[in-house]
Amino acid sequence: MRGMTDADCIFCKIVAGDIPSTKVLENDRVLAFRDLYPKAPTHVLVIPKDHYANVAELTVADPALAGELLRATAEVAASEGIDESGWRLFANTGSDGGQDVFHVHFHVAGGKPLGRMLSN
Ligand code: 5GP
Ligand code: ZN
Repeated sequence: MRGMTDADCIFCKIVAGDIPSTKVLENDRVLAFRDLYPKAPTHVLVIPKDHYANVAELTVADPALAGELLRATAEVAASEGIDESGWRLFANTGSDGGQDVFHVHFHVAGGKPLGRMLSN
């Protein structure tokens, strides 16, 4: 899927500029923008510009890009000023994981104590 976009994908539309977003980091292959419905004072989504459905698909197709994404999450945490206080990195995957947008994205969340990772 490298280099491809999905015409029905809202994150591909954000990459293309067809849907506006508040960008916090951008380079050739990676884009980070604020979540439209933030669940924490800082809530940023970090995505590859190319369309991959999830972490599994991305890491098989382009492990170097997966590494670039991870590096970008840490850069976002630092630029958001939450690298000292702490932050959470997560990627919901599939139905039970609660994935709503099937263009792989890392959530970077912080700015308050986030509690336990999972609820019962
Ligand atoms: P998921 O549930 O797939 O892990 O995360 C999708 C995230 O995308 C959600 O946190 C949701 O608030 C966010 N989101 C959905 N639509 C938009 C949008 O159009 N713009 C932005 N910035 N975020 C969006
Ligand atoms: Zn996409």
